[in-house]
Amino acid sequence: MSNCIFCKIVRGEIPCRKVYEDEELFAFHDIHPVAPVHFMLIPKLHIESLSETNDSHAKLLGNILLQASKLAKEQGLHSGFRTVINTGKGGGQEVFHLHIHIIGGGNIPPMVRRE
Ligand code: AMP
Ligand code: ZN
Repeated sequence: MSNCIFCKIVRGEIPCRKVYEDEELFAFHDIHPVAPVHFMLIPKLHIESLSETNDSHAKLLGNILLQASKLAKEQGLHSGFRTVINTGKGGGQEVFHLHIHIIGGGNIPPMVRRE
């Protein structure tokens, strides 16, 4: 996708703080981190969102989760981390290239506030 910001990052057309790269995956620090460690892991393949995946992506989806765990540890998140995949407008997705946020290193609040 020529106009996709994350495809441009993968192609090196937009600078990023790269965390990791292999044949199918790419990881880079979020430009607006919400915690001391906050990076994104994406497939190099342009897939708009998790909603757009199908059986042909099964291996890729497995690999991306395994790599998320490895990279989180490499980034020092030994006590744990949060993974977030925003999907579609209803899920708060802003960049329409599938990505996993990997977040940690600070005080991570519960996802659901109980009053
Ligand atoms: P989402 O709401 O899941 O689509 O999140 C998109 C994320 O991409 C946000 O957390 C942004 O801060 C991040 N982002 C947008 N542009 C860039 C960029 N050029 N480099 C790194 N992160 C970016
Ligand atoms: Zn893309």
